[in-house]
This record gives sequence, structure tokens and C-alpha cells, in this order.
Amino acid sequence: MPLSAYVHIPFCKSKCKYCSFVSYSGCKESEQSDYVDTLLKEIDEFYKNEQLKTLYFGGGTPSLLSVDKLSLILNKFKFDSETEVTIEVNPETVDLEKFVNLKKVGFNRVSIGVQSFDDFILKSIGRIHTSEKAVKAVEMAQNAGFNNISVDFIYGLPNQSLNSFCDDLKKAVKLGVNHISLYGLKIEEGCYFYNNPPKNIADDDLQADMYLAAINLLENLGFFHYEISNFCQQGYESKHNLNYWNDETYYGFGAGSHGYCVDNGEYIRYANYSLLNEYKDNYHKKAEKVILTEQMRLEESIFLGFRRSNGIDLEEINKKFSIDFDNKFALIIKKYLDSGHIIKTEKGYKFSPQGFLLSNIILADFIC
Ligand code: SF4
Repeated sequence: MPLSAYVHIPFCKSKCKYCSFVSYSGCKESEQSDYVDTLLKEIDEFYKNEQLKTLYFGGGTPSLLSVDKLSLILNKFKFDSETEVTIEVNPETVDLEKFVNLKKVGFNRVSIGVQSFDDFILKSIGRIHTSEKAVKAVEMAQNAGFNNISVDFIYGLPNQSLNSFCDDLKKAVKLGVNHISLYGLKIEEGCYFYNNPPKNIADDDLQADMYLAAINLLENLGFFHYEISNFCQQGYESKHNLNYWNDETYYGFGAGSHGYCVDNGEYIRYANYSLLNEYKDNYHKKAEKVILTEQMRLEESIFLGFRRSNGIDLEEINKKFSIDFDNKFALIIKKYLDSGHIIKTEKGYKFSPQGFLLSNIILADFIC
């Protein structure tokens, strides 16, 4: 039974130039209300009233919805003060009162999309907030009583230098955030930058330098690098995301959201319809369902396991799939142990920082 739920709120004030997520800008209040109505019906249809361990409102910009609407959705779920209840926040859509009310209705973790503390960069990537607003958002969340605050940054942005990126990270740590997520800029089909490539973006070497510098810097500042893109103070791991990386099941509600469940012994990954109209007409069914074979599950476990800084647990994976991992992947393991991309641990194997950098290439070798 899934003990986690992801709820997608696909509305944004305007579309960032690098964004190819399922999100729509310029929607009217009535369209948002319509969407929430459909979402409530979808939850009624599929949610089996389990007591949840984690609940995550992502987007889009969930903080664009009124607290009343968010509360209507929250109230569909069974959760208590032990449940990690996260909401993603855009700094331009919040004030102290909103944070206070978000806390009151049950959110206990906020994830703030900062991306950069450089106003020139923020403007050039289409973010609607300033650096000052981002700082204020963190401070207001703290003043409203949130003591589990995460911020997101992107590295490799146009005109971003290694030094300015590192300064941003230091500033975030100084502000007292508990968790930092870092994403390398990726320009994918569907975003503005795909057809209008920006100038002065970091090449692969500079992106790699930024990533390695971030690991070094954040670890020196007391942050634990617990997953390929995530860093936290001790005890502030994102429980919701750990759930994904530990290969646990979860509900996905809302347009374009993904879920993972076990039904009659079959492991199923599913996706909802992404277009608002299609989702509205089809909330009671899934746009895509993939029944995972044993081989697919093994590959996923390797992919997800290596994302975590503690890596693969041999006993666990051998038992789960009735394999001898060392034997099955002997040549690949030897190759990357020799090159230093994989490190032997007490329980199995993990990536070195250089391994994280080449994770896509290395993991592709594990696919038979
Ligand atoms: S990056 Fe976030 S805020 Fe920007 S358009 Fe995409 S979902 Fe919305």
C-alpha cells in the first residue's frame, strides 16, 4: 500500500525559460477551481485512506493556489504531525501571512525555488522573483515557524560563474536552510531555451567543476551529500524523495503526475494525462501504465540505489532479486572500481563524486 502521495499543481504565474515541466501559465481562477475539483475526484477514486508517511505538493507552483484550495486537497488525506508534508513555493507567490496559514493547515516543510541569488541571471532565465524576494521567502518561512526548509538552485545558468554559484550556496547556508537541491541546467524540448538557445551557458567542464565544487563546499559547511542532487543537515533528508530512491510505492495525483503501485503482485508505474482538458475528462483512468518485468525492476533498483550516497546494499539487492550482484556485474564493477568512479563500501558499492558526474554513462552499462 502506498504510504506517500505526490500532488501536482500545474499552474505558474509565467513560464521560466528553461522549464519543460507540466505547468501552465496565465490560467484563470475558474480554471484553477475546476482543476482542484477534478483533483478531489481523482483522490476520491484512488486513495484508499492509508495513513501517509509523506505528502508532497509539487508543480508548477502549488503556492499559487489559495490556502483554502490547498486545504481542501490536504483534507482528503489521512496524515498527522509525524507525516512530512511539503509544499513547493515560488518566492513571488508568498508573504508571511500565507506561510503562517500554510503551517496552520498542515504543511511542515517548504521547498523554495530560488535557483540563483543573482538578479541579472534570474531575469535572463525568466524567473519572476528577485534575489531579495527569495531571501525574504526563506526568512518569512522561518518566522512563520517552518523549521524544515529546502531551497533549489540550478548550476550552469547563462552568465553564472563558478564563484557566483558558490557564493549563492554560502548565502543559503548562512540563511539557515536545512536542505539544498542542485540541478544542472538541462535544455529539453518544450522549453523556451530549446528554440532560443541562451548565450554564455556553462559547458560540460564548467558544469562538472560547479558540481564538484558544490559537494566540497557544502560538505565543509556541515551538509551531508545524501543523494546525487541533494544535500542536507543531519536528519533533514527529504523523506518523500528517499521514498522514491528506496523504490517504495507512492500515489501520483494531478495532471501529468506519475505513481508507482503494486497490484496483484504486479509492479506498475503509471502516469496521468498531462493536458488539463484531457485530465479533467480522464481523471478516473491512467494515460500510461507499465507493468515492470523482474529485469526492469532490477535495473531501476540499481539506478535508484546508486543515486543515494550510501549506494547499493548487496545483501538487500541479492535477496530481492535472487541474484549474485558481484558475479552478474563483475566486469562492470571492476572497470569502475579501477577507474575510481565506484567505491567499495561496507555493505556494497557507491559512486565517488566523479562517478556521480558520469552516472548516466556508468548506469547505462548495467542495462543488459
Ligand atoms: S520552473 Fe517551476 S516556476 Fe518556473 S515555469 Fe517551471 S514549474 Fe513553473
